[in-house]
Amino acid sequence: MRKPIIAGNWKMFKTVAEATSFFADVKGKAEVEGVESVICAPFTNLPALVEAAKGTSIAIGAQNMHFEESGAFTGEISGAMLKELGVQYVILGHSERRAYFAETDEIVNKKTQAAFKSGLTPIVCVGEKLEEREAGHTKEVCKVQTEAALQGLTAEQAAQTVIAYEPIWAIGTGKSSTATDAEDVIAYIRDVVKGQFGEETAAAVRIQYGGSVKPNNIAEYMAQPNIDGALVGGASLEPASYIALVEGA
Ligand code: PEP
Repeated sequence: MRKPIIAGNWKMFKTVAEATSFFADVKGKAEVEGVESVICAPFTNLPALVEAAKGTSIAIGAQNMHFEESGAFTGEISGAMLKELGVQYVILGHSERRAYFAETDEIVNKKTQAAFKSGLTPIVCVGEKLEEREAGHTKEVCKVQTEAALQGLTAEQAAQTVIAYEPIWAIGTGKSSTATDAEDVIAYIRDVVKGQFGEETAAAVRIQYGGSVKPNNIAEYMAQPNIDGALVGGASLEPASYIALVEGA
C-alpha cells in the first residue's frame, strides 16, 4: 500500500517568523493517520521548522540542493548540510528551477543521486509545457524526464523516490489538469518506472499530482488509483488550507 503524501512547496515565501507562526497553527491538525505531511520551505526557515516539527508527524523538506557534497559553489547548499539540520525531503527539478535556473535532466539526475547519498528523499518534478501538451507530446516529455531523473538509482532508491507530475501550464495558474487526465499521465509514468526498474518498484513508487491543487479539488485527485497525493504551491501557504489538503488526502 502506498501512503499518500501531501507536500507544500512554499517557494520564496515566508520569513522565519511567518513560518513558525504557520507551524504553530497546523501542528496537531495537518497530521492525519495514514497521510504523510511535508512542508518544503526556503532554506532560511529549515532550522526553525525542524525544531518546531519535533514530536509531530510533519516532515520538513527543502526545495533544492547542489549535487556536490562541498566545494567552491558560492550560494549553494549541499545534501549533507540539509541532512545535518534534520531535513528529510528535497524537491528537485521543479519547473521553476528548470525554467529560471537552467536545470537540465542531467543536473536533476545528479541531484537525485546526491540526495540519496545524503540520506534525503527526493521529490522529483516532471511535466510538460503548454505547447508540448498541445503538440501531443505530454507522455513523451514525462518519459524522458522520468527516465533521466531516475537513471543510475537502485530499484530500492527508485521505489523510495517521490515523483511529482506537474503540468507546467497548471502551476500557479488556477488551471488544473482534470483528475482523469492527471491519472492517465501518472499511470503512464508508473509504466515508465516499470520499464526501467520492474513491476515491484513501479507498484511502490509514489506519484503525486501538482498544479493548482486546492482544498476543493483534492478529493478528485485522491480518488484516482494511481495518484498518491499532491505537491501544492499556493494553497499550502495558509494554515487552514494546508490542513484541509492533508485532511482531504
Ligand atoms: C508548485 O509550486 O509545485 C505548484 C504546484 O504550485 P500551485 O499549487 O500554486 O499550482
